[in-house]
Amino acid sequence: MSADPAPAVSNPLLSESPLPYGLPPFADITLEHCREAVLAGMAEQRAELDAITGSAEPPTFANTVEALERSGALLRRAEAVFGNLSSSLSSPRLREIERELAPLEAAHSDALRLDPALFARVDVVHEARHDSGLDPEAVRLVERHHLDRVLAGARLDDEGRARLSDRNRELSELSTQFGQNLQLATEAAAVRVADAAELDGLSEEEVAAAAGAAADRGLDGYVLPLLLPTGQPVLAKLRDRELRRRVFEASVTRASSGEHDNGPVAARIARVRAERARLLGFATHADLVLADQTASSTDAVDAMLSSMVGPSTANALAEGEVLAEVAVRDGVTELAAWDWAFYSERVRAERYSVDTAALRSWFELDRVLVDGVFRAAEMLYGFRFAPRPDLAGYHPDVRVWEVSGPDGEAVGLYLGDFTAREGKRGGAWMSSFVTQSRLLGTRPVVVNNLNVARAPEGRPTLLTLSEVDTLFHEFGHALHGLSSAVTYPRFAGTAVPRDFVEFPSQVNEMWALWPEVLSTYARHVETGEPLPAAVVEALDGARLWGEGFATLEYLAATLLDQAWHRITPETEVGDPAEFERRALEQAGVANDLVPPRYRTTYFQHVFAGGYAAGYYSYIWSEVLDADTVEWFRENGGLRRENGDVFRERLLSRGGSVDPLEAFRAVRGRDADPGPLLRRRGLAPA
Ligand SMILES: [Zn+2]
Repeated sequence: MSADPAPAVSNPLLSESPLPYGLPPFADITLEHCREAVLAGMAEQRAELDAITGSAEPPTFANTVEALERSGALLRRAEAVFGNLSSSLSSPRLREIERELAPLEAAHSDALRLDPALFARVDVVHEARHDSGLDPEAVRLVERHHLDRVLAGARLDDEGRARLSDRNRELSELSTQFGQNLQLATEAAAVRVADAAELDGLSEEEVAAAAGAAADRGLDGYVLPLLLPTGQPVLAKLRDRELRRRVFEASVTRASSGEHDNGPVAARIARVRAERARLLGFATHADLVLADQTASSTDAVDAMLSSMVGPSTANALAEGEVLAEVAVRDGVTELAAWDWAFYSERVRAERYSVDTAALRSWFELDRVLVDGVFRAAEMLYGFRFAPRPDLAGYHPDVRVWEVSGPDGEAVGLYLGDFTAREGKRGGAWMSSFVTQSRLLGTRPVVVNNLNVARAPEGRPTLLTLSEVDTLFHEFGHALHGLSSAVTYPRFAGTAVPRDFVEFPSQVNEMWALWPEVLSTYARHVETGEPLPAAVVEALDGARLWGEGFATLEYLAATLLDQAWHRITPETEVGDPAEFERRALEQAGVANDLVPPRYRTTYFQHVFAGGYAAGYYSYIWSEVLDADTVEWFRENGGLRRENGDVFRERLLSRGGSVDPLEAFRAVRGRDADPGPLLRRRGLAPA
């Protein structure tokens, strides 16, 4: 990636890449090239759309929907490069271009969905979809294009569209207000501590950080800033019970009164979303959201969630009894919500002692990747990974592998960008530079990003256990992209509903601790010794402890999200705090010791993020995941026969089939929450 302004050579993004698999020629691409190519790509696609709608031919699948799928090749190429750089290699100039392009790209995609002439043609093709001799993937493609546009409001008349855009504008303002209130209220709720003695239990670094947080605010003493969820990490460590109470109270009452009160904002958001849903022809916002998801109906979501409430409550109560026994040793006769994490940590330390810091010596990055992640994929799917040092990534840290299939056939490219650096956003993710499509003749080029701390020069890079899990997880997304065998780019690889996309990646995590895999990659970096069996056992035990609490606090937040998004424009919400209390009670998850992971006034995911009526999707995909893990176990685990079934019937299908049909094709039946309950220790094994 060259940092120079546009050089004299022509923009390489304007033509197809000459490199294998269409890997972008990063060394020749500048940010100015990206900017120029995105702008040119939008103009090109606009002209392609005009050609579609200007056609004198009657609308057909080929001249309308398939033509849409073919359109925008330049924009796709340019956005893939620019989007990936903005996540992995950002810079002041890049952010400037991003601010310039983002509103233009949003307007472009709105125009694509709302163009009335285009919708009229898609509608005709949709009407005739079952009588046009189309194959099932093409029928589904027509349905998705049609639904996209219906959900965006393409079916409305002028007055309806004006009302819709009013609602959208108000919602965007309200979400911004919610986010800003939350940020300010969270900062204001940070807990001040005068005396270091009160911080007993925190490490030296944590005390220093608290002193630094106070200094940043121009204050004496110490400040404990709050994180987003109800449970604050310091609650597991602080020995001073009164300080624990103060931290807990500050967390759960955030943004619930005063000038940054989010209660009325949340209630208004829910009301406007209900109005918008009605306008678009849905009973509630939850119904609208689910029209586009795997879970297709509110009944399906309810059935799954309610089957978990009883077992998780019973388990949380049992955990609470264990905690109470331990707490009484400290003279705590009645356990409170602010004691939970503290005594839970003590039980974990006493019963399942695992020194997680020491584990890193067994997890050397390249060994985990090659002998763990790649090897499991070879045993399951027959994929082989050959380093291609001749192919360059967008940064010297990036490494490229060519992936081939069981018969040596070309599959695609895998890029690995594992270390943290300035300009890379936090977290871990998978994305694509090229997605697979038979229509376009493309094969996948996928990338995994992690944020592992860089090792000192000449030393091996070591991972934590959680980073090992993350690598297997992100590689599961990469496998989804690499296995793709669909016709239309719309359905390639990970282009599946949100409540399905985490499922294949969660399944791939199972191989991290699979004995045959673990014993190969987990070798001590100096001695080559395998991880002791006792440690592996302790890891398993430690994982189960606390699952009752974790599941119940998650379910409470999920059911709260559902309640807010099942209201109609006529629902009298009244006091938002009272609405929340009633919603939790009616769902059977009201529990003073186990408050929701997020309460209404700081539920950022659903009021200022993309998870409205969709917070359930985390556990929904975990139900599918745990049931699939059980299927692998029942069938002998790490075997090519199993991998082939999973790849052919599910991974390769991407979004081209109903995801639950693909699941049934593997499992032989509908998903059962039993395996998830057993995995979390919430039901007898
Ligand atoms: Zn993921």
